Amino acid sequence: MGRGTRRALAALSAAAVAAGWMAALAAVAGGGAGGERAAVAQQRDFSKVEIKVTPVAGKVYMLEGSGGNIGASVGEDGILLVDDQFEPLAPKIRAAVEGIAGGKIKFVINTHWHGDHTGGNKVFGLEAPIIAQTNVRKRLSTEQSVRGEKVPPSPKQALPVITFDQAVSVHWNGEEIKIVHFPHGHTDGDSVVFFTGSNVVHMGDDFFAGTFPFVDLGSGGSVQGLIDDVAKALTMVPADAKVIPGHGPLSTRADLERFHTMLVASTDVVRRRMKAGESLEKIQAEGLPAELAPWGKGFVDTKTWIMTIHDSLAKDAAAGAPSGHGRR
Ligand SMILES: [Zn+2]
Repeated sequence: MGRGTRRALAALSAAAVAAGWMAALAAVAGGGAGGERAAVAQQRDFSKVEIKVTPVAGKVYMLEGSGGNIGASVGEDGILLVDDQFEPLAPKIRAAVEGIAGGKIKFVINTHWHGDHTGGNKVFGLEAPIIAQTNVRKRLSTEQSVRGEKVPPSPKQALPVITFDQAVSVHWNGEEIKIVHFPHGHTDGDSVVFFTGSNVVHMGDDFFAGTFPFVDLGSGGSVQGLIDDVAKALTMVPADAKVIPGHGPLSTRADLERFHTMLVASTDVVRRRMKAGESLEKIQAEGLPAELAPWGKGFVDTKTWIMTIHDSLAKDAAAGAPSGHGRR
């Protein structure tokens, strides 16, 4: 792969962010040179998507359809959503979440700006305030350039109306729901949501359960930053907490720890080889240690992950960041 993949990824990024980058990445990984066309041509058929509701713990539920996992607090105060997938799924999401115990959607939290987590804002933003970190509103309200491809600004009703820099809490359904900003991980606007009474944490896309993650370097993301963020999150996640990842199955703190161990191990390998003067292509050809291979069976394969680490470390070095530390 190498340069060809990088070009394909670049061309795909805008469509991917708007329409669900996972299908696009899967097409690149599986289709090689033809993957680009296949992914762009791919019209997502949302009519076939079903929303699966899983009780997590306490007042919290996880909803899976297409795109990022949704968290929901459901109780006497009404419904609070964490992320809202794609606009065409909004009626199904509403039916699924209101079907749990009745009540209306009263708040929406966005963990970050990507379209597979904020597409439903266009619908739900008309009836419930959207809460997100300052950088999420900045990116949603202005045209974004992702690897050279344009993503248009969102309409007014889809924008967060309550923004914060570091952290904010919503006191809802009998518990404090803490929304905490983690800088420069998956993007520059990621939040982790702690349901303190239900003992559930929604990690957003700072956690891909069981697979290499997508790190959006063009949106202020950083691989070393993600490592630091996950390490910090681990100090805040109780041992017996249930963890909702941005993508992948419902998880535990131990799963998040394994994810962190993988991030550190794979980044150490690439950093060492870069220091030895190896090219990206050589590092990709050598691959990662065999025990990390299972992580490449998701949407980001091993070569793409190596490229992401390589480009992120090169960017840190160019910005003069001290070796081994992210941009903070
Ligand atoms: Zn994302």
